[in-house]
This record gives sequence, C-alpha cells and structure tokens, in this order.
Amino acid sequence: MIEFEDVTKQYPDGTVAVDTLSLRIPSNQITVFVGPSGCGKTTSLRMINRTIERTSGTISIDGTDINSQDAVTLRRGIGYVIQNAGLFPHRTVVDNIATVPRLLGWDKRKARDTAMELLERVGLDLKMAERYPAQLSGGQQQRVGVARALAADPAIMLMDEPFSAVDPIVRHQLQEELLRLQRDIGKTIVFVTHDIDEAIKLGDNVAVLQVGGKLAQFAPPAELLANPADDFVRGFVGQDRGYRALTFLPADQLELGPLPENLALGSGGEPLGWRDGTMELLPVGATFRRDDSLRLALDAVLTSPKGLGVCVDDAGKAVGVVDQTAVAGVLAS
Ligand code: ADP
Ligand code: MG
Repeated sequence: MIEFEDVTKQYPDGTVAVDTLSLRIPSNQITVFVGPSGCGKTTSLRMINRTIERTSGTISIDGTDINSQDAVTLRRGIGYVIQNAGLFPHRTVVDNIATVPRLLGWDKRKARDTAMELLERVGLDLKMAERYPAQLSGGQQQRVGVARALAADPAIMLMDEPFSAVDPIVRHQLQEELLRLQRDIGKTIVFVTHDIDEAIKLGDNVAVLQVGGKLAQFAPPAELLANPADDFVRGFVGQDRGYRALTFLPADQLELGPLPENLALGSGGEPLGWRDGTMELLPVGATFRRDDSLRLALDAVLTSPKGLGVCVDDAGKAVGVVDQTAVAGVLAS
C-alpha cells in the first residue's frame, strides 16, 4: 500500500500544486488519478518516486516513509512510464528495455534475455529488438516504454498519461493490453489521466482531483458514477454518467425476444442484416453477447436500424433480440 498523509507540494513560485492530500493506494491494483489539466496529477505521481520532493506531509510504501531511503534506490524499485514513452533515442529497443537491469548490475546476457521476454509480453515482434525508437510507431514506442518500466520487476508502476499521445484506436488497444498484462503481473499501478473514460475503464479505484490538488472523491468507478460526491465530480464524470454506469451491469439478466422474421441469417445462423422490402439488407448494427455489459446491449439497440439489438453466442450465431424497453426493465428491477 502507498499512503499519502496530508501531503502538500508548494512550488518555489508559491503555486500550491497539491494540497493536504490523504489517500491510500491499495497494492496489486490499478489506482487512477484523474482531473483537469493543472490539478496536480503529475506532481502527486512524481512525489511517489521522489523526482519531486513534497513540501510537507508523509508518503509511505508498505508502512515505510519513502524519505527513509536513498532516492536513487527507491526509484530503481519503481517503474515509470510517461507520455511519448521517453525512450533513449540512441539506444536500440532491447537496450532501452535493459537499461535498469544493467544499472542494477545484471550481466548483459540476463538483462538481454529479460528484455526479449518483455518485448513479447507487451505484444511486440522480436524483430523490433534491434530498431531505434524513431523507427517505431507511437503505439509501439509506448509498449517499449511499458516493457522498460517492467524490466527490473518493480512492485510499483507509475504511469503518467502514457496513452494520451496516440490515436484513439491504438489507445484502446494499449488499454486492453494493460488490463490483460495486469491480470498476469498484479502490480501496484498508479495511473494518471485527464480522460474520465480511461479512468473508468482502467481503474480499480479512481481518485478525482480538483485544481489546487484537492481530492474530490476516491472510489471504485461504479461508485463514482452512481454517487458523485459533489457538483465538481458530477460535472467531471459527465452528463452521460447514467449511460457509463451501464458498463458495470451485466447483460445476462436481459430477457431475449425471439428472432424476428425480417432478420436475415447466414448458414451458420449469424445475423446478416435486416430485410426492408428492398433488395438490399440494412446493416445489423452492433451485436452483443450474454456476458457483455448492459452498455453494449443498449449500444446494440441504439445502432440497430430496427431498434432491436441482436444477441449472439460465442460462435457468432444470433440467439435473440432486445429492445429499449427490455434494457430499461433491467435497470428498473
Ligand atoms: P497536472 O499533471 O494535473 O496537469 P501538474 O502536477 O503538472 O498538473 O501541475 C499542478 C500545478 O503546479 C499547475 O498549476 C502547474 O502549473 C504547477 N507547476 C507544475 N510544475 C511546476 C513548477 N516546476 N514550478 C511551478 N509551478 C509548477
Ligand atoms: Mg500532468
């Protein structure tokens, strides 16, 4: 556990970036710091590895004050990933990843083997190993950044807007990969973002910060959406928080209606489109599965030209449909 107790950071020019922040970050989970630009997210994060020193208060890791050990030693036990990856441009990918292990005195062979393993782990082709950062896409660089942060197997990973500079599709892939990776590695991850959707998707817990480094709310995402602590949080999670909250409700309680006659099916029972009295089929719209969220089920309803969301099984076969009333029925129950 990382514990902040009344932590304040005032910069020399008088700016109070973080104001008496108290917070407990549980081990082996993802905790997200979210809030508008300038609210003190980066400052809070960097006080954990002491690349920024706090003005007052205490930060402890598993009960030990971080100031009781040497800052360099502390830092080597904490992975750090930033926007644009921050890779060393004149080192190859494999050497970038092996940086900290080498600093820790591992022999070259072991550091390299570990780096190659990590390259695969973050979903990169081994043939990327000898390339230089400039020869990689933004998304690939970000993956190398994650691999480098993991190289010395730190218990803690700090991630500062790591996916903010890549396009939405790549960002989505990187988020999925991080969640998949975290299921295997179970690190204590502190993740900073200004994007509430990213916070809700990745966080086991979310700390919403307000400008001036004040903690507005600290809660699991579902709780944040259901019970925003005040107007600031309500505004920040957005008008559509009811819709977002559907992410946390399962679609398996929906009662499926029978497949309508005008839904055209392929030979394997897969939905092909809606018949509409013309030669061409209208698109099916998004489909959902029983183990998806209610959000995806409602999305299927809203994207269907007939207002009927098609539920498919694992093989892609249509098994039933739902309409808006059915979704609303689950919400009301
Ligand atoms: P965030 O990461 O949430 O955008 P930061 O932690 O970077 O916010 O900054 C919080 C506040 O502290 C901002 O008002 C910012 O301008 C200010 N700040 C950040 N670094 C410094 C610095 N070195 N000197 C003075 N003010 C700073
Ligand atoms: Mg920042």
